[in-house]
Amino acid sequence: MITDEEIRKVIAPLLLSGAKMLDKHCPKCGSPLFEKDGKVFCPVCEYREKQKKEKVKGVEEKLTEKLTQLANSLPEDIDELEKYLKIMGKIIEVLEKYRRLEGGR
Ligand SMILES: [Zn+2]
Repeated sequence: MITDEEIRKVIAPLLLSGAKMLDKHCPKCGSPLFEKDGKVFCPVCEYREKQKKEKVKGVEEKLTEKLTQLANSLPEDIDELEKYLKIMGKIIEVLEKYRRLEGGR
């Protein structure tokens, strides 16, 4: 679902800028996909991603990124895996403390 605000702030200016609206839709948000300079993209998802990044504070963002990185590269080796899980546990601990400090969003 796209909001009126997103149509006004994202899609309308894009149409005016000369980007080409394609006959395909974004599977994530349902917005029409656009093409500009040979690149196909979903303007609404890009916009939302940017908004989200601006809201998230730096520390939390970095920790979450690290956590994802670790989760995506878990080793087969059990001893190694244990190390990874220990570190991930610590990161989650810090993230939880951090979120509590912020007053529970
Ligand atoms: Zn999208």
